[in-house]
Amino acid sequence: MRTAVYPGSFDPVTYGHLDIISRAAAMFDELVVAVVRNPGKNSLFSLEEREEMLRECLNGLHNVRTAVFSGLLVNFLRESGTGIVVRGLRSVADFENEMQMAAVNRTLLPGMETVFLAADSCRTFISSSAVREISALGGDVSAFVPVCVLKKLQVKYGSLV
Ligand code: ADP
Repeated sequence: MRTAVYPGSFDPVTYGHLDIISRAAAMFDELVVAVVRNPGKNSLFSLEEREEMLRECLNGLHNVRTAVFSGLLVNFLRESGTGIVVRGLRSVADFENEMQMAAVNRTLLPGMETVFLAADSCRTFISSSAVREISALGGDVSAFVPVCVLKKLQVKYGSLV
């Protein structure tokens, strides 16, 4: 049984994340989408809201489940009994950050692997931060996030279409 973990902030989950999730789910027996509690970052959505939105979006993917974790990813991997992490790559900037993170994690947990999936070319421009910024300014993010997330953004900001 091969289990992989796809960790992230998912603040909120976007079509970019969902593309990586469905492709990774096809590669592994089980995929755990792990939402990080990030005390250093001011998130728009609470940890519970972020996980709830993911759950709503994942209907139909039978081998994907969600989890939340605090602290080091490598500790979460140890607890989950897996050594495989999935991350998405959109750009050179992602590449630099992700390579560094992968090396740090592998130093902390020798033997673990980070598997990178290239972002779908139609979704490389999508990021949670863009979704937050556009929404805060009253813009339409329906090309970026599914309807269940749109609804949550409408509740947060009130004035969206
Ligand atoms: P973090 O705050 O840890 O970067 P994110 O939720 O923003 O968490 O991203 C989690 C992972 O998803 C990262 O590997 C990121 O590169 C990837 N990702 C984010 N947006 C996209 C996208 N549009 N296409 C592919 N991968 C993406």
